[in-house]
Formats: sequence, structure tokens, C-alpha cells
Amino acid sequence: MSSRFDSLETGEAFRHCCACDRNLTEVSMYIVNKSFADDECVYEMAMCINCREAMNEKLSEESRVAMFDFIHDHANIDEREQELGSDADVADYISHCITCDTDVSSLKNYSLGGMFAGEDLIKGVFPMLMCGKCEEKLNETISEETREVWDRFIGEHFPGPPSEVRLPTHKPVLI
Ligand SMILES: [Zn+2]
Ligand SMILES: [Zn+2]
Repeated sequence: MSSRFDSLETGEAFRHCCACDRNLTEVSMYIVNKSFADDECVYEMAMCINCREAMNEKLSEESRVAMFDFIHDHANIDEREQELGSDADVADYISHCITCDTDVSSLKNYSLGGMFAGEDLIKGVFPMLMCGKCEEKLNETISEETREVWDRFIGEHFPGPPSEVRLPTHKPVLI
């Protein structure tokens, strides 16, 4: 497990799905998502594949297609996969924004996504990094309904943060 995808809160690998609380060693796959603002992690979570699919079903078809298209229109996924293969360093996958190719060293706002089977990071489209600007552009392509599903999810699972905490509302990006 790459430490880049460990929980910053506990300093260890994520153990539970944020939505159903199942132990992640008991699920076939799960994703880890983190958002950074001004270089600080403002939000992190792990979600099992079942919850991810349940969440996806709630998103409108239109939005799912829009998100998929956005990434595929802006990133050459095939070329990326060819270049990186399946054994490149994790750092190589997340050294640049997947859609605008900006170097992460010049970014302050971005999100990270990774997919795991047990302790193994699965390499393919994930792991990926998307910069804040691209996330905003992507957000413009998704429906109000999808944003509401996401906001409700965040509200249910990450309750009561201090008001100054910037939750990644409207960012169903790397799920
Ligand atoms: Zn779950
Ligand atoms: Zn970008």
C-alpha cells in the first residue's frame, strides 16, 4: 500500500468504508479519495466498491457520461496506460493532472483517487490526480441533480465540520 493513499488522520491504511463501515479487508475492492486545498488535506475517505456502485446508480446517466467524456476528452487514457504500464511507480501516475498535465509541484488544489484490492493498489486509469481547475470545469458539466446527490452524501457521512473547513462540495470527481 502506498503511503500516499494512507489516511492522514490515522497515519495508516484506511480500514473502513466511509458509507457502510464494512472492514475493507472484507470487500473485493475499494477506492480512496483525497482532496487538497492550499496543500492541506481537506477531506479523505475510502469507499467500498458496493457503496461506490450504489452511489453511481444515484447519479444521473447524463452526469456519468459527462464525467467519463470529460476525462477521456482531455486525457489520453490509452497512451497513459501504455506509457505507464502496470508497474510504474505510484508517483508517476499522480505527478501530473490527468486532464491538463500540470505538474503537481505547481498545484495547491487537487484531488487524488486510487483503487485497491486488499492492500494492492490497482494500476490502470487510477491512481490519478486532478487539479482544482479541471475539477471545476468537470463540475460545470454535471447536472444539478448529481451535485445534490453528492452534497447529501457528504452531509451524511462527514457531519458537522467547523464552518471554516472547506468540504469538497460538488466534487464527485474521482469516484
Ligand atoms: Zn461500503
Ligand atoms: Zn488540471
